[in-house]
Amino acid sequence: MMLRAKQEIHWGRFMDHPDPLDIAKAQPETRDASAWRSRPTASASSPRAERLIHALRTPACCFGPDGEVGSINDAWLAYAGVSIESQGPLQWIELIHAEHRYDALSRLRAAGADSDHEVLECRLADHRGNGRWFRVDLHRAGEGWLCTCADIHELKSRERELKSRASMQADMLNVSLDCIKLIAPNGNLLHMNRAGCRALRVDENSEFGMPWLLLLPEDVRRDGSVALESARKGVFSRFSGHSVIPGHEPQYWDNMLTPILDAEGKATAILCVSREVTRERMALEALRLNEERLAIAARVGGLGVWDYDIVHDALQCDENWYRIMGRDPGEPIVSIEQYRPLIHPEDVDRATEVVKTVEELMSTGLDYGIEYRILRPDGEIRWIRSVAYLQHEDGAAKRAIGFVLDITDARRNEASLRDEKRLLEDERASFRRQSLEDALTGIPNRRYLNEELERICGGSGRGAMRVCIVLVDVDHFKLYNDMYGHHEGDRALRLVASALKNSCRRSDVVARYGGEEFMIIGRHITNPVPLLDSMASAVRRLKIPHNGSPAKQLSISCGCVVFDAEQSGLSVAALIEQSDGALYEAKSQGRNRYIIRKLGA
Ligand code: GH3
Ligand code: MG
Ligand code: MG
Repeated sequence: MMLRAKQEIHWGRFMDHPDPLDIAKAQPETRDASAWRSRPTASASSPRAERLIHALRTPACCFGPDGEVGSINDAWLAYAGVSIESQGPLQWIELIHAEHRYDALSRLRAAGADSDHEVLECRLADHRGNGRWFRVDLHRAGEGWLCTCADIHELKSRERELKSRASMQADMLNVSLDCIKLIAPNGNLLHMNRAGCRALRVDENSEFGMPWLLLLPEDVRRDGSVALESARKGVFSRFSGHSVIPGHEPQYWDNMLTPILDAEGKATAILCVSREVTRERMALEALRLNEERLAIAARVGGLGVWDYDIVHDALQCDENWYRIMGRDPGEPIVSIEQYRPLIHPEDVDRATEVVKTVEELMSTGLDYGIEYRILRPDGEIRWIRSVAYLQHEDGAAKRAIGFVLDITDARRNEASLRDEKRLLEDERASFRRQSLEDALTGIPNRRYLNEELERICGGSGRGAMRVCIVLVDVDHFKLYNDMYGHHEGDRALRLVASALKNSCRRSDVVARYGGEEFMIIGRHITNPVPLLDSMASAVRRLKIPHNGSPAKQLSISCGCVVFDAEQSGLSVAALIEQSDGALYEAKSQGRNRYIIRKLGA
């Protein structure tokens, strides 16, 4: 048989190399048809095989254990684009496309003596160097092989196209931040995109096929299993999950399982899209924590929270609020109208004037704060303080959120504190009164007198003023006591005090100076004579008998000093000394009289 190339063909030279594998590895080289001129030996082909080869319309040949082709059919020669012109040995491997030779020979070598049948998928060499894809069946025939080929080029192209489309789709899926998984109805993972592989720590290049549930953290497998079961039955399902990559914060996922259904509504696969919701979850968690803290703070502080939608008149209150009101949260109060009966009739209008209150708060910019009484179901009246924050939108109040606090006890404490304070003040006043009052006669005492004298001497800023002070002493009073007894003495002192007081003006000070002595301070008195006469006659009118006195009744002696309060520059001690001196004079002159000293004028 002679092979002649219709055109130049690019085949590797197999027979010139000691090892066929070396040829297979070698780059294809130009070979012209003359290399084919020698007719292949027929040693590998039996007549039966040869008949079969030539009967086939697809490429077929026989070759011996050394790879030398014994017989080749026309279909192969036509495919390869060569004709038989020259004798010469042809190696089977030369018929295989250069790119597949290495694999083909490796397969043959690995086949060993026991193998009767080998199948390869490869391109066969042709004169253009492209080569179509064939399924190459190698059947053991004696020492050699019978090789038949079926063209699968179209199939291969389709497969390649499908593969490239699949890879495009995989690329598309891989750019998604969501974890996308395709799960078989039996729960095994068919495919998973890059994000999914990262989150579940699966090698992107793995073949998958593992049970999807086992890839999930243990504590979410139960929810995952329930969702998978629903999806398997054709129902969309959803569950929350999380994943942990060591060294990173945990990630949270919203897993949505959508069944892919066939015409009969049976799930052929399940598409699982897991969206990361870590940030939303964190935000929700922070919100939950805040609400929890607020609720605890409200509870600890005894605050009841209320939330009033002004536009829709919708009231919402928490459990603490109901506790303060003494009401059952099971019977909710949802509007102002429902709340009104819970408020004391005297406070109800004030407490529920929403429109007016809102207007006021909007104009002042203040927060709401009001105290009013509520009625509990058992009739108990309690005081509450309600404070609120007003929320507005476009200048209109929309919502008020606030607290109520039971202040009954605080108010009671305040009231009792007020009472106690008043009592204390009364006591203090009475104590002060007592400390300035003479116990025997009830008129001001020496301490009061001294304060008054200090005021006069210090100048009270009322301008020039003539003042008189009179030191009054009961005559022979020691004797009176001796003769009538101490008790009568006391009575006599009380009577004298009252007589002195009655003979003076209301504005004059009449005080007990000590023992049986009194002192009178009269402001704006230039001439003290009328006052002194009036006092003497008042005592005289008492007609208190005193046998030890020359007058036979109780009498008084007076030492009077008249001075200018603003200009005198006198001290209290000097004034007393002067009045005492005048009194001494009166005593010396026989008692029952007065002596006047005018100072400074
Ligand atoms: P003279 O005319 O010089 O003033 O003589 P007198 O006895 O009044 O003066 P003396 O200073 O010697 O006596 C004053 C007396 O007044 C002595 C005292 O027993 C009496 N006495 C002072 N305070 C009281 C008092 O509160 N009650 C009574 N019953 N007697 C008093
Ligand atoms: Mg005296
Ligand atoms: Mg006396």
